Amino acid sequence: MRCVLIVGDGMADLPIERLGYRTPLEAADPAHFHGIASGGVSGLLDPVAPGIAAGSDIAHLTILGQDPAASYTGRGPLEAAGAGIDLRHGELAFRCNLARVDGTGTVIDPRVSISETDGEAVECAIDGMRLRGARGVKLCFWHTGGFKGILILRGVDQSCKSWGQMPRAGAVLCSLSRVEREREAAGVLDEFVRGAKDTLSGLGLKGVDRDGGECRCNAIIPWGGGSAAALKQFSSIFGLRGACVSGTALIKGICRLSGFKVCNVEGATGDLNTDVQAKAEAALRAIGGHDFVLVHVQGADEASHDGNMDGKVSIIKRMNGMVGAIRGGLDGGDSCLMIIADHTTSTECREHTADPVPLSIEAPNLIRDGVDRYSEREAMKGALGRVSGRLVMPIFTELAKGGCLGGGELYQRIVNGETRLIRDPRLRL
Ligand SMILES: [Zn+2]
Repeated sequence: MRCVLIVGDGMADLPIERLGYRTPLEAADPAHFHGIASGGVSGLLDPVAPGIAAGSDIAHLTILGQDPAASYTGRGPLEAAGAGIDLRHGELAFRCNLARVDGTGTVIDPRVSISETDGEAVECAIDGMRLRGARGVKLCFWHTGGFKGILILRGVDQSCKSWGQMPRAGAVLCSLSRVEREREAAGVLDEFVRGAKDTLSGLGLKGVDRDGGECRCNAIIPWGGGSAAALKQFSSIFGLRGACVSGTALIKGICRLSGFKVCNVEGATGDLNTDVQAKAEAALRAIGGHDFVLVHVQGADEASHDGNMDGKVSIIKRMNGMVGAIRGGLDGGDSCLMIIADHTTSTECREHTADPVPLSIEAPNLIRDGVDRYSEREAMKGALGRVSGRLVMPIFTELAKGGCLGGGELYQRIVNGETRLIRDPRLRL
């Protein structure tokens, strides 16, 4: 049995007035997504648990069988792994945004893309920086493309690791770091941010903002810091050899650390311009030598955070071509396809929300539930009801083996475990 899981990052949404109260998925009307729904069963998925507006990191960890409470150390180490950077003991990794700030340190644009050549200049300049407040600390910076980078701190007090959330426009760099410094007793990042601002200003970098306009790039904002993450091997949890097709460092990192083969796909950018055809071809190549392929497309989430409704509809339509190519290449038989989003991202609020996402599985010999469209609304009518993220793989593997809903040993173990918890009078649930 060959299993392919397709994840549209932040693809689920809420009804939008300008779309006639349809969601972007409903407006895109992707025929091949509908084909998966009509060829199997559907349901609503809470990627982590009901009521939790998950990030892609926790959602993917949960869905791929990891326990985030035990294994999650921050987003930085996962993105570093995705960029091929191995963390050692005593090192912290941060995800970084290249940004534009004004004279008062207020973030004007938290995402300013720079060229590869300028990225190399920034790498050299930051690697040579010295922090007066932390003499033994070594800095290493990697420009991982566009507005993204990774900062590694070597020999640092581990208490700085909780510094920093994903940067937003309007945040004030210095006041953010000052508050955190008081709380975490860690001034290292504060000094880094100030030093990097001077260094980048000195380089006179020109970048591109999210609207494609030229602007200055004069800041590096580190966030999501943490020490190395130890993940369980996917093959030992599910007995499957996994491969991953994604243009996003975070997803590549989670997969790399859990033992997947990470396919490098030319043109897979993790953005709206990603080459979906190349991803489909890579997925079909990978399924030749693996039992399970994760195909992740980031663009819908990026469009949602930018409030770009047309961009979101358009990337879903392009993903539809990718899904069509994968379905055509697998040509039915003993293959099993699942499509989900890893969370809902509201294009109107530009934020992740806790709304469940649609899930559809197509597999041979399934009793079809009659849902024939893949959308947030139609998934409510599906046979799977409402499931949590950690049940995704057990359900998937069970159905892929030709088993029945809820018949798998792993699935039963999880469900029975939850039932026991609910029945335990000490817990008063
Ligand atoms: Zn997002």
